[in-house]
Amino acid sequence: MAQKELGVKKVVIFDWDIHVGDGTANVFYDDPSVLYISIHRFDLGKFYPGPAGKHERIGEGAGRGYNVHFPFNVQPSQKDLIGDRDYIYACEQVFFPIIKEFNPDLMIISAGFDSALGDPLGGIGVTPTGYAYMTQGLRNLCKKTAVVLEGGYDLEALEKSSEAMIRTLMINPNDKDKFDELLVELSGVEGTSQTQLETAAQINVRPSFKQVACNVAKVLKK
Ligand SMILES: [Zn+2]
Repeated sequence: MAQKELGVKKVVIFDWDIHVGDGTANVFYDDPSVLYISIHRFDLGKFYPGPAGKHERIGEGAGRGYNVHFPFNVQPSQKDLIGDRDYIYACEQVFFPIIKEFNPDLMIISAGFDSALGDPLGGIGVTPTGYAYMTQGLRNLCKKTAVVLEGGYDLEALEKSSEAMIRTLMINPNDKDKFDELLVELSGVEGTSQTQLETAAQINVRPSFKQVACNVAKVLKK
């Protein structure tokens, strides 16, 4: 629709909902003009909607390489919740460079907040700081950015996370200081900044995330 009506050629759909958007991926699976990127809980194919989230799903035909699936597993006994630093690592290491190279005319964020801390379905812990970080990174890669609200089953988390996203969008993209001020307010930690978050994510990356990033990069290079 947007491609025809707005004269937009290349579109990124960035999906941070806890579930892989298998329907969306399928619609554009052979389409090189739509780059679909999803980071989602996988649990070795047992997390809904199942094996469709595997990292080998990179598109087909002309669309090969234009689907990026970043699946991660949560251990039942895991105390150190997957969250901001993991998502920031994946953005920096995998998603943002790919988007930069693709150079989209339009960015659509599939903003599902069931990946938020406190969500009963997601079981992970992205905080408003993490959503603000991703929003800022994505809209800095494409001036035309639209957000579409998806899941989110904890009302308080949904409210705080979507507010962080909208407040980020309201800041001038070039005003780095203002964005860092917002990060300090959201995190409640003095000294929080975009640069500091990126550095911390690189230093504290968990081996399982590093492994997925390697797998994704490897399968896309083929
Ligand atoms: Zn969902």
